[in-house]
Amino acid sequence: LNIFAPYGIVKDVAVKTPGYDEPVRQRSLRTHNLALVLRHVAASPAPISRAAVAAATGLTRATVSSIVEELLAGQLIVEVDPPPRAGAGRPGVGLALADHGPAGLGLEINVDYLAACVVDLTGRVRHRRIRRAQQRGRTPGDVLDDLIELAAATSADAVAGGHTIAGIGLAVPGLVADGVLRLAPNLDWHEVDIRDQLLTRAPRAGLAVDPATVTIDNEANLAALGELDADAGPDRRAASFLYVSGEIGVGAGIVVDGDLMRGRRGFAGEFGHVTIRPDGARCHCGARGCLEAYASQEAILRNAGVDPADPGGPVARVVALAQAGSTTALVALEEAGAAIGVAAATVVNLIDVDTIVLGGVYAPLAPWLTAPIGRELADRVLAARWAPVAVRPSVLGASATVIGAAGWAVRRVRETPSTWLAHASLTPA
Ligand SMILES: [Zn+2]
Repeated sequence: LNIFAPYGIVKDVAVKTPGYDEPVRQRSLRTHNLALVLRHVAASPAPISRAAVAAATGLTRATVSSIVEELLAGQLIVEVDPPPRAGAGRPGVGLALADHGPAGLGLEINVDYLAACVVDLTGRVRHRRIRRAQQRGRTPGDVLDDLIELAAATSADAVAGGHTIAGIGLAVPGLVADGVLRLAPNLDWHEVDIRDQLLTRAPRAGLAVDPATVTIDNEANLAALGELDADAGPDRRAASFLYVSGEIGVGAGIVVDGDLMRGRRGFAGEFGHVTIRPDGARCHCGARGCLEAYASQEAILRNAGVDPADPGGPVARVVALAQAGSTTALVALEEAGAAIGVAAATVVNLIDVDTIVLGGVYAPLAPWLTAPIGRELADRVLAARWAPVAVRPSVLGASATVIGAAGWAVRRVRETPSTWLAHASLTPA
């Protein structure tokens, strides 16, 4: 699985470029050119020669050679044997992104599971671990202890496989600002300094972490960024979609013109709390009639008559029932889909995205959710006749969040290779 198939410019990662009134210093030039060469190697569909990089970037061959040496030494790229060629002349050695060396560690806290995964520089998922257990009613400290244990085991897998953890993305199911989890309604956590908790525990797990290489973000935001990396076409700015993440809670990542829309205070995307019925059922957030009360994993299981503790996995059970034609399960999915469609139509009417991406538990349930969502969109989106809205499952499936979390760290290295090159290994050898 390659989450960076087509690669474009990522505005999400801060790149320090000289300001309008600042001189361009030698160091800035070097930083810029390192990123430029790496981007060309990454974007090339086949291994690319030094000469071809020079031609494509406009840099001199000497500059390209010296930058390539630096990237090779930092394990960011590798030399690949040239393809056999007919005719005279020795073809140049090709350059490609390294599939060993720096990698991103993704972590996820969710209401009914914890997850960790490692994604290499080429976007391939290398290791993945998941621990299914109810986290509701537990303290943040206890959950973080378990998460760090999972992180340590997964990063040990990575180190054994020749990778070095270059950064960590942690996805949480709630409102995050500056590393503080303000509110996670389904965990009943308030004002938890998750960043501090992670950073103090990491060394105990043998992870020597530089705080600059760590991000804490809302789960749907990281999943949407992962989807963007995996599925953007050649023009990343053409991507506009609503990534809907169905879990115990329901969230969304809004991507407009190739950028994640976070909102002025960073709290955009609380799709689960869009009102479906003003006088409807009580939501965990305290309000009435939120989408989450009608379309969360719990609502679907309840309406389908499936035990949340089903040993084979409750969502797999719903899929099996729907495949077998169970009317109860089909009606439950139809109702959830209609509720998602009503809320999605509101979003599309306001911000005109062209696609609804179904992630989390909605990905495996997409065969039954797509039709009712599409029907509500067709009925309720004013411009639907001229600008139809597509509905499809996430290309990353149910694991999009943890893969997207690891992808944040990979993107940081790929966009600003100088930050990686300035660091020695973050994981003790
Ligand atoms: Zn609510």
